[in-house]
Order: sequence, then C-alpha cells, then structure tokens
Amino acid sequence: MEGALVLGGGPAGAAAAIWLARAGRSVTLWERERLPAHRICGEFLSWEAQTFLADLGLDPEALGAVAIDRVRLVTARRVATARLGFTARSLTRRVLDAALLELAAKAGARVERGVTAREIGPGGEVQAAHGSVKPDTLFLATGKTNLRGAARDAEGTLNHQLGFKAYLRLAPAERAALAGHVELILFRGGYAGLQLVERDAANLCFLVSPDRWRACEGDFGALLADLSAEVPHLGQRLAGAVPLLDRPLAISGVPYGFLHRPSGAETLWRLGDQAAVIPSFSGDGMSLALHSARLATAALLTGQGPHAYHRQLAKDAGGAVRRATLLQRLSEEDALRDGAAALLALMPGLVGLAARFTRLSAGAVRRARLA
Ligand SMILES: Cc1cc2nc3c(=O)[nH]c(=O)nc-3n(C[C@H](O)[C@H](O)[C@H](O)COP(=O)(O)OP(=O)(O)OC[C@H]3O[C@@H](n4cnc5c(N)ncnc54)[C@H](O)[C@@H]3O)c2cc1C
Repeated sequence: MEGALVLGGGPAGAAAAIWLARAGRSVTLWERERLPAHRICGEFLSWEAQTFLADLGLDPEALGAVAIDRVRLVTARRVATARLGFTARSLTRRVLDAALLELAAKAGARVERGVTAREIGPGGEVQAAHGSVKPDTLFLATGKTNLRGAARDAEGTLNHQLGFKAYLRLAPAERAALAGHVELILFRGGYAGLQLVERDAANLCFLVSPDRWRACEGDFGALLADLSAEVPHLGQRLAGAVPLLDRPLAISGVPYGFLHRPSGAETLWRLGDQAAVIPSFSGDGMSLALHSARLATAALLTGQGPHAYHRQLAKDAGGAVRRATLLQRLSEEDALRDGAAALLALMPGLVGLAARFTRLSAGAVRRARLA
C-alpha cells in the first residue's frame, strides 16, 4: 500500500491523519467502529488539548462543549474548591472523535470505518477481515487495545483498577452546583471525576478496586450506593439522578504509567495510549495523544524515523507520566486523601502546582506545535 496507514481513529490517529493529509501525503485510516461510539473517558479537555485542537481547526465550543474553570476536591470528610488557572472544556468523545474523523476526511485522508486491524506481521503487513496490506509507513493508534504482533513492551506500573463511565441527568439543583466545576472525588480504592458535558448531561467516570466491585457483587447500582455511603457529597449529587445509557461502560487493566521505550530497530510509529498512558485524573490523556500525533507527523515529514520521534515523546511526557502515576498511587493511601483536601482548602494555589507536575509542560507543547 502506497503511503501511510493509521490504525485507530481516536484523537491520536485522527490528528495524525489530518496533519499528514494536509501536508499532501497519501494516508488511509482504519477505525473499527462503524459509527461514532461512546468511550470511557472523563472528557475533560485541558488547555493543552484545546491548543492542539485549535491548530487542527476544531472548535469544541462550536460543538457544544461546556466551560470548566474550577476544580472541587472531595473526600469522605472534606470539600475544597480552587481555580484551575485556565478554562477547560468538556465534550463527549462521541462528538469529538466524529468531528476529528470528519476533518481527516475533508483534508483528503481515506477514512475507512468498520475496519478492524487483527494483527501486524513481522514484516509490517497488517491483517484485516478483507485481507492484508503492507503500508510504507504504519501508525499504531489503537488506544488501550493491544494488537497481536505489536503488543506493548510493558503493561504499565498501575493497572489493577476497573474503570466505569455513566452519563446521568442530575437533579436541577445538583446540576447548577456542578456547573463550571470538575469534581475529583477520592474514595477507598479509587476516585471519580464528575463534570457536565453538552446537553446538560453529567459524565461520571471512575476507577475502583476490583475488591470493591466484587463486594458489590458486580452490581453497578450497589457500587454507586456504596461509594455514596462513603462520600456523602457524591450521594447528594446522585440523589434523583437519571441514567442516560442503558448500562455503564466498563474497562479493566488500563496500563497507567506505561511509557514506550524506544529501540533502534523499530519501524512502527506508536501514537497516544500506544506510546504513553498518563493517569486519568491529570485530564491530559487526549493532550498527550494529540501531542504524539503532532511530533510523529512532523518527524516523518522532516525525514526522521520512529526512533527519534519516540525518544522525543519519552522526553516530553516521561516526567509527567511518572509523577502523575506516583500521585495516583498516593491517593490510594487512606491517610493522605483527607490531608490532600485539607491542604487544598488552605492553599488553593496548589492546584496549579499539581497540574504543572502531572501534565505536559507548556514548553514541550510549544515546541511540538512549531515542529
Ligand atoms: C477512566 C478514564 C478517564 C479518562 N479521562 C480523561 C479526561 O478526562 N481527559 C483526557 O484528556 N483524557 C482522559 N483519559 C485518557 C484518554 O481517554 C486517552 O488518553 C485518549 O483517548 C487516547 O487517545 P488515543 O487516540 O491514543 O486512543 P483512543 O481514544 O482509545 O482511540 C483508539 C481508537 O482505535 C480504535 N481501535 C482500537 N483497536 C482497533 C483495531 N484493531 N483496528 C482499528 N481500530 C481500532 C478504537 O475504536 C478507537 O477509536 C481517560 C482515560 C480513562 C481510562
């Protein structure tokens, strides 16, 4: 196959296809979902992610995104609020991913939906139901999914939790209290993010220990009741809430802390979660995905290989991934959770500091945009 093949049409794959097509390269993208689909994601668009989206010509506000400028840290006994220091946006992935793929097609990429890559052979040939192709350049952007023949070289350092996501219609008073905030709710064995998305729905996305899920006998309603009993603030938010999906989305084994180690021999370009997985609370996974797509396509277009790209990405993202993973690990310590909220109540400026340490640096983002 002449040109580049991108496997996966999430933010990383779609952005890579857009940048390559706009540079006049021949590019095909395979996305396994035939139609736009929901994703397990807090749907918090950081300042950095919005910057890359603006470069791509995508305006989340025009798609209905809501603005968020405060964070509320909630534990069993405390609630502390602080300014984020920037205006984040919140937009469902179903809308965002579809808009990005539409931009890719408009830019001239061949976007093929409903095509699942099954395996990558030792010579770089990619197998799908309709046969096998061998592209000149192969981008792997399949997110958390490991593809046969191209599995990650490590499984992350924090991958024991289960992830869930539900959309809810909150009671009017709770919706009003949540507006403009992302609530980070810490509990035994995990944490939740709660924020409004477009059309006045609320996104409740959380990680929980398998023990806690088992203790609730795999019943999602019982799990929410259990979490609400521990954190009354969550119980108050969920009182009278109506679920908007038939059932919640679930995921296991997310390899948080994974960072691809570049090896001299590689020919594959790993993007987004295939290159690095940053803990979700940082709200920077999509930014990292877009950042990786920008770096990789710039490297390809300037005649560099995947090794140089992976080294640069590890340099840009490694520190943030490691620090965010450490913080996520610490948040699992009972004694530290309430302490964190108490500290935040006294020193709200700590939010900015924590965000700086657990996200890509402004300098790295600036350099990638200029690459
Ligand atoms: C619980 C949780 C909460 C999160 N919250 C946030 C947040 O609030 N903000 C934030 O910025 N990030 C968040 N993230 C991280 C963010 O979702 C990811 O980092 C981001 O989606 C990575 O983008 P990607 O393009 O690499 O992969 P994905 O978005 O996962 O996209 C991969 C695409 O590849 C397709 N695909 C998979 N396998 C194949 C195949 N074999 N063939 C063809 N197509 C395939 C999939 O259908 C999908 O469309 C969260 C993650 C989790 C788990």
